[in-house]
Amino acid sequence: MSQENIDDPPTEILAETSNVSELRAQRVWCLARVAWFTWIFFTAYFWWREHTIGVVVSAVEVCLIQLIIGRDRQRSQYRRVMNLTLGVCACGILLVSISDQALRLTRFCFPVSILFASQLSGVRDALMWLLVNLLAHTMYFVMTYGPAEAYSWLHIDEVIIIYGVSICTFFCCQQGEAFYRDRTKGLVDLSSTLQKKSEWLEHLATTDSLTGLINRYEFLQQLRRRTNQTAEHVQRMALLLIDMNGFKEINDTLGHPVGDRALIEVANRLQDGLKDVAISARLGGDEFCLICPDIASVPEAKAIAERSCELLNRTYAINEFEFTMGASVGIALYPDHTHCATELLAFADTAMFCAKEKRIGFEVYDPNMTKQLIEHRNMQEKLSRALANNEFFLLYQPQVDIATQRVIAVEALVRWRHQGTVIPPVIFIPLLEKSREIIAVGQWIIREACRQLKVWEESGYDVGVSINLSSVQFNDPSFESNVLAPLMQSGVDARKVDFEITESLLIDDVNSATQRLLQLKETGATISVDDFGTGYSSLAYLRHFSLDRLKIDRAFVKDYPETDDGLIAKSIISLSSALGLKVLAEGVETQAQLEFLRLNCCDEYQGYFMSPPMPAEDVAKLFSLPFALSGGESDSALQAPQLVHP
Ligand code: C2E
Ligand code: CA
Ligand code: CA
Repeated sequence: MSQENIDDPPTEILAETSNVSELRAQRVWCLARVAWFTWIFFTAYFWWREHTIGVVVSAVEVCLIQLIIGRDRQRSQYRRVMNLTLGVCACGILLVSISDQALRLTRFCFPVSILFASQLSGVRDALMWLLVNLLAHTMYFVMTYGPAEAYSWLHIDEVIIIYGVSICTFFCCQQGEAFYRDRTKGLVDLSSTLQKKSEWLEHLATTDSLTGLINRYEFLQQLRRRTNQTAEHVQRMALLLIDMNGFKEINDTLGHPVGDRALIEVANRLQDGLKDVAISARLGGDEFCLICPDIASVPEAKAIAERSCELLNRTYAINEFEFTMGASVGIALYPDHTHCATELLAFADTAMFCAKEKRIGFEVYDPNMTKQLIEHRNMQEKLSRALANNEFFLLYQPQVDIATQRVIAVEALVRWRHQGTVIPPVIFIPLLEKSREIIAVGQWIIREACRQLKVWEESGYDVGVSINLSSVQFNDPSFESNVLAPLMQSGVDARKVDFEITESLLIDDVNSATQRLLQLKETGATISVDDFGTGYSSLAYLRHFSLDRLKIDRAFVKDYPETDDGLIAKSIISLSSALGLKVLAEGVETQAQLEFLRLNCCDEYQGYFMSPPMPAEDVAKLFSLPFALSGGESDSALQAPQLVHP
């Protein structure tokens, strides 16, 4: 796609000559019609005044001009029309002027033809008309006075006047034409500039200046035009709304120039790859839209969506950077889903949102999606008031030392009680992260967990508390005031506090992660890597950071011993020991799982086998219940713990 710099006004000017010709052609046709009417008038006038020859000459003139106009209808023939018309008129004037003594002065009409010629097709033609005039005058004198008398002193005044008027007219025309030419050129230039300017403004108003695709305004215009069809002429079409995944990160980390180039590349891929089937538009930011006319079926629309995902998922190489961005595509069909342009766009947006949530490339709109989206938005709204309404509370799940069977710490897990229903964090944490309200809620969680820890400390319990940190909290500039400050202000022994972070958070920005982890460690708190093994699983990064513990994700424990030989769990345990880190297994539900972990030297566990998450006062009952190993190594060594349900 050619990248036009639309900040520069267009340089090409319409060919002046073609405009001048156009103007002249119009005037010649006007002249021919005026001459025709004039001779009609004279036919009638001479008939009334009983100048018989005049009547005949005028009638012949009318017929001849009629013939000229009829024959050379094309505008390009205007020069010939003018010459023929003037020629015919010159003959007519000559004949009328010599037909009667009373009509002699008619010959003064000759110079008028010079005026016409110069006005209509320039001085060069007027020069020819000067010659025609001189010839006509000569003929007049010769025919009127005879060759001998015509140029004698007898008629010298008449000769001088009539020739003089003709020549003078010609020179005046010559002067006039220069002025006329300049003025016409000025007008033509002006009109051409105005035309170009208006084209340019239209281009600005309808084109996205970065990518050269049509912009939101033009896109909506086109969409409205296409959805304004009459019932009999409805043409099916698909609307594909595309949102780039991970563009914000590219923009934030590699800078805006790279982000801009990436958007141009996206536009080029869509334009080049789909130009036969779709009109591409950029709606703003990293949001693009395709209008696909003549779509016969849903599979056809899906094929285009698949193709666009395939095009956009390819690696981007910009400057020295190489990266990938995914695309989420929402499909809505006209008229299947709606007849209204605005709704069609909203439906494609809803479908795109679902595709993004589900992390699948594309999704076709389904009316249920709107319902879900409304529920989702309602929830988001209610959630934003939840903190102020005191609707969050914490449950605590024990973390047990496998060797001693003692509860050494608890993990604080947040819950939301809304209108009598307790909503689990997997539903609302992503929403809080999206709206960044997790920062305020996270601060409350740290405060609350530390407050509870302080209560336990004062009651003489020797336990720690693990607090989950979201990547949004971790990466926010307010990290110190929202994470460190509540911990420091709580007055607890920070060594009893453990922060659980995820692998992805470490990978995203190694330098800033290192810095922040150090700040956390300086308080005395420890750091665990949560859900270990599910993320990047790149072991190289572990060395870079000062970590204390890995938490083996439940996925590597839950199927043991049925379908899994526990190989991954075993390797994570060995890895932790090689790196000098503690290791905790999550989601332990059975004695067999616990036994397996114990045999493989896992340090700690957490899971329903010991206890589900429960309120502070209930979990405290477990602190004083050391599940001692009775008899050491035997299989029966691990007793089923005494579960206390919340
Ligand atoms: P997580 O940090 O991996 O927390 C462990 C989750 O596994 C908890 O779910 C817990 O109830 C569940 N679980 C523990 N033992 C077992 C078991 O034996 N079997 C099974 N099937 N599940 C078990 P929960 O409380 O619903 O939390 C889910 C996720 O929500 C957490 O995963 C964590 O990522 C997030 N989350 C919870 N509380 C907080 C919080 O306070 N802050 C932040 N940022 N995230 C939180
Ligand atoms: Ca956790
Ligand atoms: Ca976990």
